[in-house]
Amino acid sequence: MARAVSSVRIKSLKAYTVEEAAEVVRVTEQTIRAWIKQGLPAMTEKRPTLILGWALKGFHEQLRKKRRRPLQDGEFFCLHCKEPRTPVAGVVEYQRLSDAHGQLRGFCSACEGICVRIISRRDLPKWADLLDAGTNDRRTA
Ligand SMILES: [Zn+2]
Repeated sequence: MARAVSSVRIKSLKAYTVEEAAEVVRVTEQTIRAWIKQGLPAMTEKRPTLILGWALKGFHEQLRKKRRRPLQDGEFFCLHCKEPRTPVAGVVEYQRLSDAHGQLRGFCSACEGICVRIISRRDLPKWADLLDAGTNDRRTA
């Protein structure tokens, strides 16, 4: 089982090389270099490139938060984009998962891949517009 990556292991006052930073956050060195390009503060003037722990910690936490952003109204999670997306209206279907929950499935408006959203069954009426925009015959609530 993969252990959850936590920024707790990062020591704020330590300077990490790219290799050490990759080790401590459990990503590849390539990812760390990409993060530097995306704005992770690093001392790149001399070799080896050094990243201060506090900067790595802050950047890492920001990334995790961004990834964990809850879905807003009307958004589905696209399994392909791995991002919140809006589904193409009219081809959304509801699938019952349990007495209390169900899954809405649709097609991502960005990539046309499958996007999903788990909803509480009692919230189903809120999604009626999306479900009713097309044919009703896929609806199995
Ligand atoms: Zn998508």
